[in-house]
Amino acid sequence: MLILGLIYISQTFFLEDSYKKNKIASIENIGNKVASNIGNSKLEEIIKSISLEEEICIRVVSNEMDIKDNACPLSKFDYKEISDIAYIIKENDGRKLFDDYRMKDLKRDDLYVYGELTKYKNNDVLVLVSTLVRPISATEKAIQSQYHIIVIIVIVMTIALAFIFSKLLLKPINKIKKEATNLSKGNYDGSHIKPNNLEINELNNTLEKANEEILKADKAKKELIGNVSHDLRTPLTMIIGYAEMIKDMPDEDVTKNADTIIEEAKRLSSLVDDLVDISNYETKNIEFNMQEISIRNLLEDVYNQYKHYCDIQNVEFTLMLNEDIRTIADEKRLKQVLYNFMNNALNYNDKDDKTIELGLKKVNDKYRIYVRDNGNGIKNEDIEKIWDRYYKVDKNHKRHHLGSGIGLALSKSILEGMHLHFGVESVYNEFSEFYFDIDKYN
Ligand code: ADP
Repeated sequence: MLILGLIYISQTFFLEDSYKKNKIASIENIGNKVASNIGNSKLEEIIKSISLEEEICIRVVSNEMDIKDNACPLSKFDYKEISDIAYIIKENDGRKLFDDYRMKDLKRDDLYVYGELTKYKNNDVLVLVSTLVRPISATEKAIQSQYHIIVIIVIVMTIALAFIFSKLLLKPINKIKKEATNLSKGNYDGSHIKPNNLEINELNNTLEKANEEILKADKAKKELIGNVSHDLRTPLTMIIGYAEMIKDMPDEDVTKNADTIIEEAKRLSSLVDDLVDISNYETKNIEFNMQEISIRNLLEDVYNQYKHYCDIQNVEFTLMLNEDIRTIADEKRLKQVLYNFMNNALNYNDKDDKTIELGLKKVNDKYRIYVRDNGNGIKNEDIEKIWDRYYKVDKNHKRHHLGSGIGLALSKSILEGMHLHFGVESVYNEFSEFYFDIDKYN
């Protein structure tokens, strides 16, 4: 509509003006051209052809000639009038435009006359060129009728476009907006929206995915609360039970009972530590103490830590270490990861002849630290998920060790924090090998 308005304004206020200016420029040009051709033997022919081409009138008057076309308004000027005009032109330095020249007989105010005085063989020659500005109204009318058609076309097209846009964009967006209010509750359902537009379709899919994530997080939260409270309750029940035993039967084996209480309290404390750690990693509140460390020291420390326990549990535990290399890492955190791998290797093995191998090996141009067990293994469908927070493959697994599905998530946060590549290779019921790769320093 704005464009139409602009066209209308330019037509009504400026078209006439520019049309007149064009006309005037054109008769002035022609006047100059004719004046410069005075003396030319083909003057009459030239005048005729210009008059025809440009649809204007030309008259050339001097003492010796008067070239004119009788059908043209300029031929109506008598000699008295001609000499008046010539006088005015002379006064005006030899050229003048009469834009309001009223012809005595015709009384026309739409006639524009341009006059130029020139000399030929010492005689004054007057060149007059005239044009009518009348055609403007005819043009204007033609344009205006077209303009009306254009307005109608534009209005129809605008309505059609508005309809299409509303159907394509606004309607689905509104539907998505309405549905999105349910997103926070995990109730977003975009399946009925089916937008035709690619971007809106993507937006819908993204929101559906966000909804899935919200549901997942919600489920995980509920599971965590369930797991944690279960895992807290077991040691607490034991602590209370053993403490009561000490109180009621002081003659019983107090040291053994007290040891059990201490053991259980330690498990509680380690669970709480894990929870605090994971929340710190997630809020990126942890700083790594990166230093040059010896892998031999690291692996031997872990080995010694578990060797005795493995002997008692009848687990064949070996350390595979052929060379010592140094790397830059946070030793304490790497130990935390290896402890998690070790605890899992011990926990998820229901076989009679259990073996665990802790070691360092070269894989391509990297060094790999791994913990391999011949335990239960992990099914393919679970292998991606075990690194997720609170994920447990077998939710009813009876374990001696405290676990609430955060060990691997914690290890993942630590390894990602140190920018180390990590992973697991496993075949169900055969083996699992958890690993991370390090760079050799120097
Ligand atoms: P959890 O506290 O339950 O042990 P983790 O994050 O350490 O939590 O492990 C997540 C899940 O991955 C475990 O519940 C277990 O099912 C599986 N898993 C981890 N390590 C092993 C392993 N060595 N062998 C078989 N399954 C494992």
